[in-house]
Amino acid sequence: MTPFAYSKPAAIDEAVRLAGPDSLFIAGGTNLVDLMKENLVRPKRLIDINALPLREVTATADGGLRIGALVGNAELAWHPEIERRYPLLAQALLSGASPQVRNMASAGGNLLQRTRCHYFYDSQVPCNKREPGSGCPAREGLNRNHALFGASELCVAVHPSDFCVALAALDAQVVITGPQGERRVPMSDFHRLPGDTPERDTVLEAGELILAIELPAAGFAGHHAYLKLRDRASFAFALVSVAAALELDEGGQIRQARIALGGVAHKPWRRADVEASLVGQPATPEHFAAAAELLVKDAQPLAHNSFKVELARRAVVRALTTAAEGARP
Ligand SMILES: Cc1cc2nc3c(=O)[nH]c(=O)nc-3n(C[C@H](O)[C@H](O)[C@H](O)COP(=O)(O)OP(=O)(O)OC[C@H]3O[C@@H](n4cnc5c(N)ncnc54)[C@H](O)[C@@H]3O)c2cc1C
Repeated sequence: MTPFAYSKPAAIDEAVRLAGPDSLFIAGGTNLVDLMKENLVRPKRLIDINALPLREVTATADGGLRIGALVGNAELAWHPEIERRYPLLAQALLSGASPQVRNMASAGGNLLQRTRCHYFYDSQVPCNKREPGSGCPAREGLNRNHALFGASELCVAVHPSDFCVALAALDAQVVITGPQGERRVPMSDFHRLPGDTPERDTVLEAGELILAIELPAAGFAGHHAYLKLRDRASFAFALVSVAAALELDEGGQIRQARIALGGVAHKPWRRADVEASLVGQPATPEHFAAAAELLVKDAQPLAHNSFKVELARRAVVRALTTAAEGARP
C-alpha cells in the first residue's frame, strides 16, 4: 500500500474543504481498502467520514424518505420504514454481499463501489478504467460477466451494485455537496456509460461528497420483486438482476411499471419505452414476455456472455410475474 495522509473531520464543510483531486473519502472501507491494498487506487489523502452527521433516516416534506450516506446496508435493510414502504430496496440490499460486509458497508459507499471486472482488479494487465489509454483485455478476453448494453470500444465492464438497481427503479435522487454547493442527481443519471472516459463511473466531481439518497413517496410495496441470478446462491455478484415494480388498478390493468436491470451495463439499465409499453395492459405473462423481448432486443453480447440475453429475458418475465402476484406478508 502507498503511504497516505489521514484525517477524520467532524463537520461536513471541513470534509469538503479537505477534499481534492488526490483525496478520497472512506466510509465502511469494504471496497476502498481492498483497492488500496492491491495498489489499484492510490489516494494521497484519505478523509474518514465516519464522524460526520450522516447516519439518519428521516421523512422528507413530500412524503418520501431521506437516507443519510453513512446508514449501513444491514441497518437500512432492516429499518422498519424500508421494510414496510420500500421492501424492494430491502430485498436488493439483503441479496448483496454477506452479513459481515453489509454491517460495514454504507449507503453512499455502495453507490461508488467499483466494477468487479477481473481485469480491473489485476494490475498486471492493461485496463482503460484503471489506466486510461492502456487497453481493454476484456473485450476480446474472458467476458462472461460483462455488459450487454451501453458498452464502448474502451470498456465492457458492468456496475456491480444490487442496491443501485432498486434505487434506479424507485426513481431515487442522490444528494451531493461540494465546493460548488449542494445539488441533486436522479439515480438513473448518477452512473455513466463508459464512452471515451471509462475511468469515470459516475457524474460525481472530484471532492464531492454524497450526503444522502432520497426516495419518493411511492415505494411500490404492494407489487414488487428483486430477482438476482448468480453463480452461487449467496455472496456473489449478479450475472443478471431485475428490480420490478408495478402499480395496478382494481381491474388488474397496469398503471405504472418500472424495470431496472443489474449486471448487464455500466449503470443500472432502464428503458422508458419498455416501461411505457406496459401501461394500460393487463398484468399477464404474455404482456410481460413482450416487454422483456423489447428490452433485450438491442443487446450486444460479447463472445462469452450471450447466455445472459436469454437469462435477462426470462428474469424480467419472472420478476414482473412475481410483482403482479403481490406482496406476501
Ligand atoms: C466480498 C464482497 C462481496 C460483495 N458483494 C456484493 C453484492 O453482491 N452486491 C452489492 O451490491 N455489493 C456487494 N459488495 C460491495 C459492497 O456492498 C460495497 O463494498 C459497499 O457497499 C461499499 O460501501 P463502503 O461504505 O464500505 O464504501 P468504501 O469502501 O468506504 O468506499 C467505496 C467508494 O465510495 C467512496 N465513498 C464512500 N462514501 C462516500 C460519500 N459519502 N461520498 C463520496 N464518496 C464516498 C469512497 O471514496 C470509495 O471510492 C461486496 C463487497 C465485498 C467485499
